[in-house]
Amino acid sequence: MFDRITQSVTYQQLELNAPVTVTVKRLDQIHAQISGNKFFKLKYNFLDAEQQGLKKVLTFGGAYSNHIAATAYAAQLFGFASIGIIRGEELKDKALNHTLATAQQLGMQLHFVSRQHYREKNSPVFLEQLQQHYPEYYLIPEGGTNALAIQGCKEILTAEDRHNYDVICCAVGTGGTMTGLIEASSNHQHILGFSALKGDFLKSDVQQSTSKQNWQISDAYCCGGYAKTSPELLQFMQSFQNRHHLPLEQVYTAKMMYGLMDLIGQNHFPAGSRILVIHTGGLQGRHTNADPS
Ligand SMILES: *Cc1c(COP(=O)(O)O)cnc(C)c1O
Repeated sequence: MFDRITQSVTYQQLELNAPVTVTVKRLDQIHAQISGNKFFKLKYNFLDAEQQGLKKVLTFGGAYSNHIAATAYAAQLFGFASIGIIRGEELKDKALNHTLATAQQLGMQLHFVSRQHYREKNSPVFLEQLQQHYPEYYLIPEGGTNALAIQGCKEILTAEDRHNYDVICCAVGTGGTMTGLIEASSNHQHILGFSALKGDFLKSDVQQSTSKQNWQISDAYCCGGYAKTSPELLQFMQSFQNRHHLPLEQVYTAKMMYGLMDLIGQNHFPAGSRILVIHTGGLQGRHTNADPS
């Protein structure tokens, strides 16, 4: 399935006046819709579904979710039916935004649930009810993070990546991608995650899925929370894009790059550090104002 998509990924070295080197691994180039890390997160979930004889997937997301967009596209491409449980009952009667309209055009059935109901999405009772309601469907959790997603994200790093870099940076939402990077990294490498959300819970989530300790997560650049922005962040994003001809979006990758450039400016990294930045894609949402809740 996913091997039908040719992965042509380039490495872009940034021109900086700094004593470190920064190379961006452009996972955003893998595919326009199954973008960035979502390719790796979905790969083994779809394979598992197919092996179980299920050609239907059900998953969850917010109205601007890159995961919903990627799942809808992958389902259509590989001949799966798909259901998206979308946070926000009030959206039911409104015109669909770009993400949801595209998902629906691709054949995803959208079900809107209240924010309160949505919060139960990981509770065993709620999942049991869903499974009874949709017995034929393969369930993929919110943000697509589970053991199979982590297995897929281990494939983001090549043997050269393990050898050629000292620090690996990525944006963090649920932490699935970062966990895969940690698991795949060499012991001499340090994995630095920039959280798009406020809070310490991500640290314990990642801790539960890996026994390695060569990593750190910072929420210092999350601008107050998920999908929140600041004039400084937006201005940084604009000038960074102009200078480096590298597209970013404000929910994940701009926050990561903002944080990384700030740390480099503070001489946080030893001189000579070779930094690899994973561009996780997500550009489908770049022209929208992401859901602030
Ligand atoms: C989904 C997403 C992330 C977060 O990935 P997690 O595995 O949930 O941490 C990061 N960057 C982009 C662009 C994304 O779309």
